[in-house]
Amino acid sequence: MSGRGQWLVGFPFGRKGVSSLPEVLPAGGLIPIPAVHSDPVSRRHLPDHRPPIGQRDTRRERGGQRVVIDGIGFAAIGRLQLLQLLQARAASVDVAPVYRRTVKSLSELAEFDLVVGADGVNSLVRRALAPEFGATVRLLDNRFAWFGTTQRFETLSHTFIETAEGAFNAHHYRYAPDMSTFIVEMSADTFARIGFADMHEAASRQTCERLFAEALGGHALISNNAIWRRFPIVRNARWSHGKHVLIGDALVNENERLQARINQFLDRIEATLKQALRIAATQGDVDAATDAGAHANLLLCYVIGRWQQFGKSGFSRDPMAQWPQQWAILSR
Ligand SMILES: Cc1cc2nc3c(=O)[nH]c(=O)nc-3n(C[C@H](O)[C@H](O)[C@H](O)COP(=O)(O)OP(=O)(O)OC[C@H]3O[C@@H](n4cnc5c(N)ncnc54)[C@H](O)[C@@H]3O)c2cc1C
Repeated sequence: MSGRGQWLVGFPFGRKGVSSLPEVLPAGGLIPIPAVHSDPVSRRHLPDHRPPIGQRDTRRERGGQRVVIDGIGFAAIGRLQLLQLLQARAASVDVAPVYRRTVKSLSELAEFDLVVGADGVNSLVRRALAPEFGATVRLLDNRFAWFGTTQRFETLSHTFIETAEGAFNAHHYRYAPDMSTFIVEMSADTFARIGFADMHEAASRQTCERLFAEALGGHALISNNAIWRRFPIVRNARWSHGKHVLIGDALVNENERLQARINQFLDRIEATLKQALRIAATQGDVDAATDAGAHANLLLCYVIGRWQQFGKSGFSRDPMAQWPQQWAILSR
C-alpha cells in the first residue's frame, strides 16, 4: 500500500502500521453494561482465563411455573473491564486510539488506502455507501430496555408476567459477583398501553421495578441511559466496496437463519461421512456389511455430544478425552 492504512474504529487484529483509530467516546467511556461470551476464544483473553460464572441453565418462569432448559454456557465480564482489555491489546500492537473524535463524513478518510467500518450498528461507512453495500436495516416491533440490578440471578433466566396492559418479559443474568443484567421487553401494543413512550427514564425504571418487584426481591433497577429500543436487523449484500470494508455490527448483527445454516452444515458433514464410509467399504478399509448411513449418524452424534459436554462444563472438559479408546470402538 502506498499511503497509510486507516481503520475507522475497530479492534486491531495484531496488525502493525495502523495509523488512526478514531473513536467517538473517551477512553473507557462506554455505558458500564456487561458483555457475555459464549465462545471459548474470547474467554481466553479474559483475565486469568476466568471460568464462566455458572450460567448454565436457562430458567423461564410464567404464572409461578418454573421451566428449566439446560445446555447453555457463557462467561460474562463488565463492559468497562472488557474495554480496558481491548485497549491493552491495542496498545500491545502499537495502536493508539484517537478518543473523542467523531468521523462525520467519509471525505475525512479520503487519504487512506483502506477504511474498515467497524463503527457499529449505526455505521457511518455503511450509511454513506448504502446502495454500494446493498444495505438494509429493518426494525423489529418489540421494545426493550437494559437495566442493571444488584439482585443475583445465578443463571441466564427469564421472568414472564401478565398485566392488564399486556405481557412483559425480563431476561436476567449475572455478570459479576454482585451485579446482574436485567432486560425488560414487551410487544409494541403493550408498550403503547403502558405509556413508556411518554415517561421519563426514572419513571420507566420505577414502573419496571414495580412490575418485576417479585423477581427483583427488593433490589432496585439501575438505569444508565436505559432508553427503549427496537432491535435492528442489519443486512448487507456485499461486505466491501472499493477500499471500504464493513465488519462487526456495521455488517451484520443477529441472524435468524443461523440455526438453519448450522443444521445444513451438520447435514453436510453427515453426508460426507456417509460417502467416505461407502468408499472405505469398497476399498476394504471398513467392513463391507457396514451400514454407512447409520455409522455416519453415529459419528455425528458423537461429535455433537462432545460439543454439548464441552459447553456444559463451562468449556473446561477436554473434548478429546478418551478419544483413542473411543475411536477404537467407533472405527470397528
Ligand atoms: C445494550 C447492549 C448490550 C449488549 N450485550 C451484549 C452481550 O452481552 N454480549 C454480546 O456478545 N453482545 C452484546 N451486545 C452486542 C454487541 O455489543 C455488539 O455485537 C458489538 O459491540 C459489536 O461490535 P462492533 O465493534 O461491531 O461495534 P460497536 O461495539 O458498536 O463499536 C463501534 C464503535 O465505533 C464508534 N463509532 C461509531 N461511529 C463513529 C464515528 N462516526 N466516528 C468515530 N467513532 C465511531 C462507537 O463509539 C463504538 O465505539 C449488546 C448490544 C447492546 C446495544
